[in-house]
Amino acid sequence: MGIIVQKFGGTSVANAAGLRRAARLISAAHSTGSGVVAVVSAQGDSTDRLLQKAAEISPDPCKRELDALLASGEQASMALLAIAAEAQGCSAVSLSGPAAGIITDGHFGEAEITEIDTARIRKELAAGRAVVVAGFQGAAPSGDVATLGRGGSDTSAVALAAALGADICKIYTDVDGVYTADPRRDPTAAKLDSISYDEMLAMAKSGAQVLHPRAVELAKKHRVRVEVLSSFTDAPGTVLTE
Ligand code: ADP
Ligand code: ASP
Ligand code: MG
Repeated sequence: MGIIVQKFGGTSVANAAGLRRAARLISAAHSTGSGVVAVVSAQGDSTDRLLQKAAEISPDPCKRELDALLASGEQASMALLAIAAEAQGCSAVSLSGPAAGIITDGHFGEAEITEIDTARIRKELAAGRAVVVAGFQGAAPSGDVATLGRGGSDTSAVALAAALGADICKIYTDVDGVYTADPRRDPTAAKLDSISYDEMLAMAKSGAQVLHPRAVELAKKHRVRVEVLSSFTDAPGTVLTE
């Protein structure tokens, strides 16, 4: 069975309409007979709002607790997206990062994925379910949930695509691809049909938010086919190439 990984960013699942749109994309891929693994971010600006809540209480919150707090954003999204998929008749199950077998080091707030045990995901796929995984998180050696740094859901998606040997990792976002510059700031920016891993890595490292740098590094290392595209339109996106 071919496997497709889809990733939905915060803006793409900000409200019920976005969740339904993402669920339709999951359902469409599922109905082709592919194994579908959807990685989801926290809704809209909810990560910022959770950080703000902690800041109101303490100037220096414990990193472990901050991760427990932030991970809840993606966990709410994963359940909502699985509910949205089921509501469209697509059999789906949600898994937190730890439940999905994503293992990290112990650097709370900026953890790196060290290993992925894909057994649970494969079991769910074999049972015919689309699997919705909470992005941005995994299990630290202590067993506690740890987060991967801001924007880290991209990295969850690419790491899962590599571990599962997925045919493609589709990064659905709020722009229809990678541009020569941030299209929200520079109206002359042009959309690229493709971009090399190295050029994308340089762009990501210099602050282009569209892909997390670690995600690009992993894609390059494991030769993961990545496409960046919009969850709002049907326009073809940007493909990462050698
Ligand atoms: P998501 O929530 O889907 O992860 P992000 O906000 O993290 O989305 O990344 C998408 C944003 O990245 C776009 O809205 C855009 O403003 C910004 N961006 C910065 N540089 C670029 C670029 N070169 N090409 C496309 N988008 C870019
Ligand atoms: N929700 C997290 C953040 O805002 C992770 C992500 O969206 O990729 O940084
Ligand atoms: Mg992002």
